[in-house]
Amino acid sequence: MRGRRRNTELTIDEFREILSLPNHLIAIIRPDSTFYKVNEEATPLLGWEPEDLIGNKVKEYVHPEDWEETLARMTSVFLGSEAVVEDMRNRIKRKDGTWRWVSWTGRARGGLIYAHGNDITEKVEYEEALTVQALVLESISEGVIICNAKGQMVFSNTAAEKLFGYDTDELLGQKIFILSGVNEAESKKKVREVVDTLTTDKVWMGEFENLRRDGTRLITGCRVTVLDLHGETHFVCVQRDITRRKIQEEDNKLIADITQILSSSLDYEQNVRNVLGLLVPRFFDSAVVDQFKEGKTFRLATAAERPELATLLMDIHQYESEDVSRNKLQYVSEQREVLIENLGELFSTFKAQPEYVEKLKLLNLKTSYALALMGKDGPVGYIALHLRKDSNKVLDERVQKLSREVAYRLGHAMENSILYHQSLEAIRARDEFLSVASHELKTPLQSLILQNEMRKRMIQKGDPEAVSPENLTRVLDLDRRQLKRINRLIDDMLDISRIRNSKLSIQKEAFDLAVFLEDITDRFLHEFETAGCELKKELLRPLEVVADSYRIEQVIVNLLINAMKYGSGAPITVRTKKLSDRVVIEIEDKGPGIREEDKERIFRRFERANSNQVSGMGLGLYISRQIMELHQGKVYARSEYGKGSTFIVELPL
Ligand code: ADP
Repeated sequence: MRGRRRNTELTIDEFREILSLPNHLIAIIRPDSTFYKVNEEATPLLGWEPEDLIGNKVKEYVHPEDWEETLARMTSVFLGSEAVVEDMRNRIKRKDGTWRWVSWTGRARGGLIYAHGNDITEKVEYEEALTVQALVLESISEGVIICNAKGQMVFSNTAAEKLFGYDTDELLGQKIFILSGVNEAESKKKVREVVDTLTTDKVWMGEFENLRRDGTRLITGCRVTVLDLHGETHFVCVQRDITRRKIQEEDNKLIADITQILSSSLDYEQNVRNVLGLLVPRFFDSAVVDQFKEGKTFRLATAAERPELATLLMDIHQYESEDVSRNKLQYVSEQREVLIENLGELFSTFKAQPEYVEKLKLLNLKTSYALALMGKDGPVGYIALHLRKDSNKVLDERVQKLSREVAYRLGHAMENSILYHQSLEAIRARDEFLSVASHELKTPLQSLILQNEMRKRMIQKGDPEAVSPENLTRVLDLDRRQLKRINRLIDDMLDISRIRNSKLSIQKEAFDLAVFLEDITDRFLHEFETAGCELKKELLRPLEVVADSYRIEQVIVNLLINAMKYGSGAPITVRTKKLSDRVVIEIEDKGPGIREEDKERIFRRFERANSNQVSGMGLGLYISRQIMELHQGKVYARSEYGKGSTFIVELPL
């Protein structure tokens, strides 16, 4: 074979042609790393004539940063530890002082290195630019997603993946709709809006409601631009998480709406219903608001996703035993805020009516978040916010914070509503009192005027009877009784105003209660007689007490007069008892008695129970209670309706 040229072998001319292909650098290097031969391409590529290079050290033309590697690779092919140098890149100096990137392939043969270089400067610059761009995209905190016209994601940066909770590259190839937090129709509408805008404008800016991979809500501020990639339209979405700000805005708006609702009308119940309408079903599946009144709870309003459940929540309250009511009240009052995570377990421990438990089951409740509605002197009610067992809502910190804000406002509004109704009630009671008081004062006054005129006429007629000592005594007695009645009424009214101004005071002294009661009853003998009441006394004697005798007399006289007024014609018993720490005075009558529901009420100002037939202003018992409270004592009624009443006065020892 040797000496015979195969027809596949290149001729010298052919070699020359190949050697002068553009962009191809060929160099033969000596072991002392000087150029031995260089092809003509050196001139267009580097500006050097081959003669400029030949004989010179390679090092002079290699970028100092690349020299170390270049030398190492050259040495290893010389020594034979590397047969071929492949893809070694370095920068070679041009004659004009600029640098070109060259990719080398080389081999050692016969003590020389045969090297072939490719000018890759443009490629390297392009790669660098791409690397910089990629780095920029990765380094920005905004999420960048690029999708094609079909809505498929073709690029997502780390920030985007983090934002939506996906792992690296998980989004690629998926439709952008998987990130949407709204239904398909709304999603498509939004996309159309974006695309429409982009046909005329360069950029669309707006907000997106999204869902993270874990199902949580993510609101992003987004900037979409069009990008032409390989002749195809693509969309670049740059997104920023604005969830916190948006939620804060939503919450502020909600609170503002609630405040507005609560001040919109005087119909508190309707207002509360409207407020609950903003919380259910948005944050909770159902809710109730109860008001505390005299140790009990009254259901004011309910709300649920389905109206029949709201009605059920309203109805169910009547089955709630007083115990449960009282427990709830106490619980909420003490804790202010109670979160019960497993209502089912709690219900199973309830000693409630089976009907109540049955109905509760229909509600399928799991969580109840109850918050006290605070008035300035303590809780006035509570709001309980529920989640069902199958609920997709979460009671997170934000919702709890919001609930507290709502409870705070409901509390204020409830207190205002209570005060408003109390003042209406007070105005009504005062008006009634004024009419009763004028009537009460008018009766004895009219009788005095009448008597006075009658006597004057008798005197004018010269009737000697008119001035007889017997008649005069009778008339004066009569007058005195009417005047005393007027005096008592005025005293009561004065006491009321003293109580209102906290000016009612007591001065204590020691006295014997037996002597004291004997004295009072003696003075009223005439009245007992007129009322047809036999008086029985069961008095311990002696029985020393320390109290304000003037004020205690007022209490006893009031109770005696009531007993005569309401229990006329039947015996009255005045009894005293001594216990370890207190003295008890009982005044028992056989009158109509007092209904259970009135027993406390009659001790309030202007309150009267079914006493239209009997005159009175509804002040006596109220004043008596204030007097007894000043003594750290008590006055209360015991009665079996229809069988009489016993009023009990307790004085501490
Ligand atoms: P007044 O007797 O002037 O109405 P009180 O404050 O003394 O005012 O009494 C309040 C109400 O309590 C009365 O209107 C009456 O309905 C009821 N009451 C008081 N004492 C008795 C009694 N002994 N028997 C039945 N009811 C009574």
